[in-house]
Amino acid sequence: MSALTTTRIRDHASRLGLTHLTDTLSELVARAEAEQMGYLDFLDLLLGEEFGLREGRRFHNALKLSGLPHHKTLDEFDYAFQPDLEPRKVRDLATLEFVERHANIALLGPPGVGKTHLAVGLAVAACQAGFSVYFTTLDDMVRKLRVAEATGRFSRQLTAYLRPSVLVVDEVGYLPLSHAEANMVFQLVSRRYERGSMIVTSNKSFAEWGQVLGDDVLATAILDRLLHHCDVISVNGPSYRLKDRLALVPGGEPMP
Ligand code: ADP
Ligand code: MG
Repeated sequence: MSALTTTRIRDHASRLGLTHLTDTLSELVARAEAEQMGYLDFLDLLLGEEFGLREGRRFHNALKLSGLPHHKTLDEFDYAFQPDLEPRKVRDLATLEFVERHANIALLGPPGVGKTHLAVGLAVAACQAGFSVYFTTLDDMVRKLRVAEATGRFSRQLTAYLRPSVLVVDEVGYLPLSHAEANMVFQLVSRRYERGSMIVTSNKSFAEWGQVLGDDVLATAILDRLLHHCDVISVNGPSYRLKDRLALVPGGEPMP
């Protein structure tokens, strides 16, 4: 290949944003020659490498922007530790069909049973599949919305929570909300209703959400929208955080 052609290909590739081709043109051509590739195979290699690199970069950036507290996957979840949780149910959710349907998932159960892990695992899967994802705790979201309201930016802050295809709202129920805060949650849930998915985790049963939200009428209105299209997963087994210390917990059994 003439130096002129190589330079022109590099220049065009660079302008088209094909960074992998720009950087590795000689290696790619050498490989094609060594393996005596046909035209189609060479094009396939070229586009495959470029796409793989770009996808990897997109996934990496999307994970960074998602605010996820960690990036644990569903494969890292030990189902044997929660025998009442059906792995098949989680695997069905991992197909992300719920995201296409703008449906929700609620993960309920006591502390340490893996609610956040499952929510993050589903969020990572959604991120990998190209959906936009954002993670927040309920308290953090409400705090940010309150600050935004006080400074006349409520609508803009709310939009930030409306935009992602999947919004994870972790830890509903740890701290009770004021009426004004519950109202903000209602606005969020009603605006996302049938437009985007939410994954919600809570240590409280839905019956207790009235207390959490400080208002039964608002709680009912929120649950009405949240649960209309929603898979509810209850995880009621032992705490994984305490798995090595269960002998110390009243009623707990030592693990084998
Ligand atoms: P929760 O949100 O229900 O309080 P987490 O998801 O934060 O619980 O889980 C607590 C810790 O235990 C995390 O580090 C999580 O990855 C881990 N964990 C929980 N359940 C499992 C499990 N079944 N298999 C593997 N790790 C688990
Ligand atoms: Mg949690």
